[in-house]
Amino acid sequence: AKAKGRGNYQFFTPALNIAAQQRLTVSNQLRQALVRGEFVLYYQPQVSLRSGAIVGVEALMRWKRCQHGKHDLVSPTHFIPILEEIGLMAEAGKWVLREACMQAAAWQKMGLAPIRLAVNLSARQFAGDDIVRTVIEVLDESGLGPEWLELEITESLMFDDSERIIHAMHELKRLGVSLSLDDFGTGYSSLSYLRRFPVDRVKIDRSFVQDLTTNAGGADIVRSILALSQKLGLAAIAEGVETEAQLGYLRQQGCAEIQGYLFSPPFPAEEMTLLLRSDRRI
Ligand code: C2E
Ligand code: CA
Ligand code: CA
Ligand code: CA
Repeated sequence: AKAKGRGNYQFFTPALNIAAQQRLTVSNQLRQALVRGEFVLYYQPQVSLRSGAIVGVEALMRWKRCQHGKHDLVSPTHFIPILEEIGLMAEAGKWVLREACMQAAAWQKMGLAPIRLAVNLSARQFAGDDIVRTVIEVLDESGLGPEWLELEITESLMFDDSERIIHAMHELKRLGVSLSLDDFGTGYSSLSYLRRFPVDRVKIDRSFVQDLTTNAGGADIVRSILALSQKLGLAAIAEGVETEAQLGYLRQQGCAEIQGYLFSPPFPAEEMTLLLRSDRRI
């Protein structure tokens, strides 16, 4: 009788059931991950092509998931969409901001040359919660000077409610924080956004950098983005630089900074400390 009473379960195919079950399991694991402190930050250097030195690091989230007594490292592309979906991204994002600012402040206290700290903000994090108050709090707590913090945002953020978003961006800039437009060129109407939104830097998306040496169109796009950013007085950084050939082209076109496996992959804080101490240059 009991089986009959739950008969509606039968409408789900076993495959769907398993997928839904897995998602539920991962959602629960993610809730626990936040409480148990299973998230970690990796840091990837951003390098000046003029001096060759590291001028910044981007903080990138990882999930050190413990399952069946084993650890694995989960990519943010897998869990960030789920965190967004279950409404935990604001909290996780605040953790990222605090952890990264504490680390950057610690590097300065160790006597390392101060560098920029780039932190990714998800659209929802920016729109929903009071991001300005969060940033003020975290800067205060960590003691990091606002001039060292850069927030990376994507164009998708600017779709709706842009008046409120633009207002928040101006408030962040008033604090002395800088803003960079991530994955530049992949969204819609990038050009008009550049004029309407108070950003300091554009990050040329990895896909264009990859196309630099494999397809002629890529080089044209990168060249126009660099020309445009110069005209608008914006700084530019190319992401996903993997080869000497890509580097050579970017240098030749006057790109100021690069980030990518060619110089260094993202590393945990301890390894990044060693790299910063080494004063390695490109
Ligand atoms: P993103 O912001 O575009 O970050 C750059 C991604 O490219 C990183 O992937 C980085 O590891 C990878 N990468 C760097 N250099 C190279 C290269 O030379 N070649 C290739 N193939 N890849 C390279 P990752 O760490 O897996 O992060 C993926 C995305 O997840 C990020 O893309 C960002 O959108 C998101 N993300 C990561 N951490 C956070 C976070 O704390 N908050 C938010 N909101 N999003 C985050
Ligand atoms: Ca980014
Ligand atoms: Ca990016
Ligand atoms: Ca990208």
